[in-house]
Amino acid sequence: MKEASGRIPGLLRDKYPWGKVLGLLARHYEVGDWRVPYLNASSTDPFRVLVSTILSQRTRDEVTHGVAESLFERYPTAAALAGAREADIARRIRRIGFSRAKAKAIRAACREIVDRYGGNVPTDVDQLLELPMVGRKTANCVLVYAYDTPAIPVDTHVHRISHLLGVTETRTPEETEEVLRHSVPRSLWKAVNPLLVQHGQNICRPTGPRCDECPVQRYCATGTRGRPAKRAAP
Ligand code: SF4
Repeated sequence: MKEASGRIPGLLRDKYPWGKVLGLLARHYEVGDWRVPYLNASSTDPFRVLVSTILSQRTRDEVTHGVAESLFERYPTAAALAGAREADIARRIRRIGFSRAKAKAIRAACREIVDRYGGNVPTDVDQLLELPMVGRKTANCVLVYAYDTPAIPVDTHVHRISHLLGVTETRTPEETEEVLRHSVPRSLWKAVNPLLVQHGQNICRPTGPRCDECPVQRYCATGTRGRPAKRAAP
């Protein structure tokens, strides 16, 4: 995506100090287990990470966590979910948004995992992207949280905070991912999602970020303008 001039479209700041910023966030949130809340109880089982992440789409983490745990109690493996009745899955996950569509997608994904991959969730991003309801964010979550592989899952928090920091100017999370892959050193990719999600849920919230309490204010284009953004763009 580099232009002939060498410029990366959507990248506003070359050489952004990601190491310092992510280090300050890690210290602030005293990150031991840096995985996001809805994955905390899911260990690093790729099947659970995949299903939890599909369930989490457009759903609050607290709700996702409880629903995922009760679903895994009844159906602990991809093979078990592949053989479940779609209506039963939908009933068990009815507290979350788009439960019917998600039940259908989860069962279909588990069937593919069983039929094509012998019950193992693929480690290849292109194979992951072929599964129903699996976009780049979900595929990247599987890579980071299940397979400990460098990737940058971009959800609304990562997309929004990258803009506020003054690093990116992009329209979609997919574009932000592409830009961050150029901006963030590969050795730090895995830390971006868990730390910016925590920051977005606590201090840099979508409405009324608390810039005065922010440990990375001095590295933030919005924070150093001297006044907190009333409503964080985009
Ligand atoms: S200074 Fe404000 S806008 Fe910038 S990251 Fe911190 S809370 Fe968010």
